Amino acid sequence: MAAKKGRVFSGARPTGRQHLGNYLGAIRNYVALQEAYDCIYCIVDLHALTTLKDTDHLREWTYEMALDWLAAGIEPDRGTILFVQSHVPQVTELHTILSMVTPLGWLTRLPTFKEKVRQHPDNVNYGLVGYPVLMAADITLYKANTVPVGVDQASHLEFTREIVRRFNHHFGEVLVEPQAQYTDFPKVLGIDGRRKMSKSLDNHIEIAASPEEIERRVMQMVTDPARRYRSDPGRPEVCNVFTLHRFFSPDQVAQIEEDCRAAEIGCVECKRLFARNLADYFAPFRQRRAALAADPDRVWEILADGARRASAIASEVIAEVKEAVGLPSAR
Ligand code: ADP
Repeated sequence: MAAKKGRVFSGARPTGRQHLGNYLGAIRNYVALQEAYDCIYCIVDLHALTTLKDTDHLREWTYEMALDWLAAGIEPDRGTILFVQSHVPQVTELHTILSMVTPLGWLTRLPTFKEKVRQHPDNVNYGLVGYPVLMAADITLYKANTVPVGVDQASHLEFTREIVRRFNHHFGEVLVEPQAQYTDFPKVLGIDGRRKMSKSLDNHIEIAASPEEIERRVMQMVTDPARRYRSDPGRPEVCNVFTLHRFFSPDQVAQIEEDCRAAEIGCVECKRLFARNLADYFAPFRQRRAALAADPDRVWEILADGARRASAIASEVIAEVKEAVGLPSAR
């Protein structure tokens, strides 16, 4: 077997069932990178606490997300580690240590922080400000060199790189500077055709949705707003449905483009075709998901085993970090 190119880490908050944005922007890369890298994937439940008002769904959403990731092709049997962030508490130690080399101004200037303050003005907590530091701890605790994410995470990843440089400058070359890895769909738009697909905006399509539900959501998708009548020629380059056809309808996309421009195909028909192709693409996924869901204990065992293996790596790195920083060992 060829030597691996390094280590991959990525995490996402337990938001429950995953959508097309998560899949095309991140999960597809999680799966593909398993071939050439040692991969660690994490459901970052501590991060979820920064904005959640109630935590009743955390367990269910963690489970649903694990089901989606496993059914999509994350394979613990091939060595990939899948675990829940709070099950490996060393990350909170590293978070504290990294917070000491993080200027507060760096955090409060981040556009993502300002956006969260706008969204949750009554809940601007200390953890929210420190979110990127915890993310830096997540990644550096495993010395990952590659981080598959959507482009919305670019500023956070750059932030991690800056913290690593600062830490290593002070304490020696201990931590690894990671690189982001994007797919060819780094920002998927929602069914509104305008904003990033996101569960919180309710403009998403779940990858585990039934064919009927897929059809219902797809028929709500906004196409070329200037195309008001069936006889108007369309502009595929501004149409989100067309963009997604490129991925889900590779054999038909050239014809769709031609027919749309010539008003030979209407938006309704085009969306029906898209809904069908989307449902077909995810049919094997839905089958694998149903099989996994038949044995929930097995899913929790996979997560527990992942935490044990992640913890073994984390313990070594945190010991190295503490020594580099000069913290006295117990004896
Ligand atoms: P988190 O806030 O923890 O990153 P999200 O569910 O927002 O959780 O995102 C999980 C992963 O999916 C991230 O890597 C993110 O960049 C990616 N992602 C989310 N939405 C989209 C989208 N609309 N297009 C592309 N990638 C996305």
